[in-house]
Amino acid sequence: MKIIMLGAPGAGKGTQAKMIADRYGIPHISTGDIFRANIKNGTKLGKEAKGYMDQGLLVPDELTVKLLLDRVAQEDCSDGYVLDGFPRNIPQAEVLDRALADQGERIDYAVDVEVADRHIINRMSGRRACVGCGATYHIVNVPPKKEGICDVCGEALILREDDRPDTVTKRLAVYHEQTQPLIDYYKEKGILKSVDGTMPMEEVFDAITRILG
Ligand code: AMP
Repeated sequence: MKIIMLGAPGAGKGTQAKMIADRYGIPHISTGDIFRANIKNGTKLGKEAKGYMDQGLLVPDELTVKLLLDRVAQEDCSDGYVLDGFPRNIPQAEVLDRALADQGERIDYAVDVEVADRHIINRMSGRRACVGCGATYHIVNVPPKKEGICDVCGEALILREDDRPDTVTKRLAVYHEQTQPLIDYYKEKGILKSVDGTMPMEEVFDAITRILG
């Protein structure tokens, strides 16, 4: 099963993508996580991507598309995957569709996690990420056991540069302009499924599993 997660930054699509990956035994592929790992490791790609990410802008397609196509061509993706953060614009969606069609394949579902903008800013300002392993928390909704410390690896939790309120506002504008058109794109293909992302996390997941079967 090949699944795309859609939704504004902070809609909870990453959390849901991880839960889907666990439930269905398929890899969770987050282009944002791949870029952050590259930044942490000081790679050339990381250095190039960071400037865009810190400003809330999309990393250019030349850097993003090949990275994703290489990833989904790996052995562990043969039974499907859940994409979190890709595609982010129509050209990326078209390249992915063409690459899949060349192999007689296609995306099965595009799941849109719907959350209005007014909820997003609040959610994002409470988000904290581990500097060590990248695990994410929320100071109210998903707090760590010990304040400011990662449950998984014990390193410090920070407010990511791209989760700061002014950057979030920019990311939302980029989302509406470039990513939201994907909702109609997948609707026209007949594979769009929308869920209410303001429900508690477990209820959102139940709604998704009812769709995926
Ligand atoms: P995310 O963790 O998915 O919110 O991604 C964090 C940041 O990484 C985004 O704000 C973009 O700067 C960059 N990014 C992630 N995925 C993509 C993509 N498919 N295309 C372009 N930029 C991306």
